[in-house]
Amino acid sequence: MPGDGIGPEIVAEALKVLERVGEIGGLDLEIEQGLIGGAAHDAAGHPYPEATREAARRADAILLGAVGGPQYESLERDLRPERGLLGIRSDLGLFANLRPAILYPQLASASTLKPEVVSGLDILIVRELTGGIYFGQPRGIEERNGERVGFNTLVYSESEIERIARVGFEAAMKRGKRLCSVDKANVLEVSELWREVVERVGKEFPEVELSHMYVDNAAMQLVRDPKQFDVMVTGNMFGDILSDAAAMLTGSIGMLPSASLNSEGVGLYEPIHGSAPDIAGQGKANPMATVLSVAMLLRHSLNRNDLAERIEAAVGRVLDQALRTPDIFGEGMKLVGTQGMGDALVAAL
Ligand code: ATP
Ligand code: MG
Repeated sequence: MPGDGIGPEIVAEALKVLERVGEIGGLDLEIEQGLIGGAAHDAAGHPYPEATREAARRADAILLGAVGGPQYESLERDLRPERGLLGIRSDLGLFANLRPAILYPQLASASTLKPEVVSGLDILIVRELTGGIYFGQPRGIEERNGERVGFNTLVYSESEIERIARVGFEAAMKRGKRLCSVDKANVLEVSELWREVVERVGKEFPEVELSHMYVDNAAMQLVRDPKQFDVMVTGNMFGDILSDAAAMLTGSIGMLPSASLNSEGVGLYEPIHGSAPDIAGQGKANPMATVLSVAMLLRHSLNRNDLAERIEAAVGRVLDQALRTPDIFGEGMKLVGTQGMGDALVAAL
């Protein structure tokens, strides 16, 4: 689902990579195209049309570019491109959002932090995506005691906490076996329950070293010494904020993938960046975040870690060749466009 803005450009390159790696690995791929976001609104009158919904339900995995753009901002709320994304997330029950933040050594100078603080950074934030304060009831703006008040509700059930905690522990098992659960248990009852349930799930994973951190401290520690973390697991709003902060540690929005998974292992894979309307159609967007999303797709939905690693190695090799799109360009590097980068990745594979 290419979507809007640079979406079609970067997804085209990611599909070239997927097809090449499919040939290498003997994957029997069947690829369908789906409309989503503004592009779907323009063509079908809705950001998440019925045909897209049906295609999504048939799929083992979904690769998405990006949605949105200034031309859609005047649409009524329910027809905006972002609604397409919310629609597919809730439709497929994509409750677990995985956001790796990896700093490629070749790009160390792009970070705003000192090289020794971030070099070799490789952390994973697991964010709960379908619950918490963004979805809790009641919510609204109403008149109380002669003035208006706005309110939302932060609510998590035991089963919601349990399943996201399990994703966190399972991810930690495949990595450095350390999990940090982030909450605000000194202030919030919901966090007290969160901590209790995470502890309980932790008993099933005795090999994983579990720690807890308050979200304010976690924000500070993430900037002070991010390499102390392996996997972090947290709720929807805390995860929203922490994962953007973690992304900036790596300095390159065009390099970071994400996965959103449901309990059947079906996933939606997309770059963390948006539709970048300012550079759309110019052939200069960095396709690597989308290509690395393909790697996550192979790992988490198609169970082909071997092919995911091949793609990640190809990204490293192309960076070693000094090829750079404008967003990561620097002195002494060779400038390439979106297609040039895609071709180089296919050649590296
Ligand atoms: P959204 O609200 O959809 O998250 P946003 O307003 O946060 O979008 P982006 O679309 O992510 O913003 O763009 C932020 C900046 O990063 C823009 O200047 C954009 O050109 C740049 N950018 C985003 N993605 C890429 C990419 N793949 N390659 C190069 N530059 C990018
Ligand atoms: Mg954004």
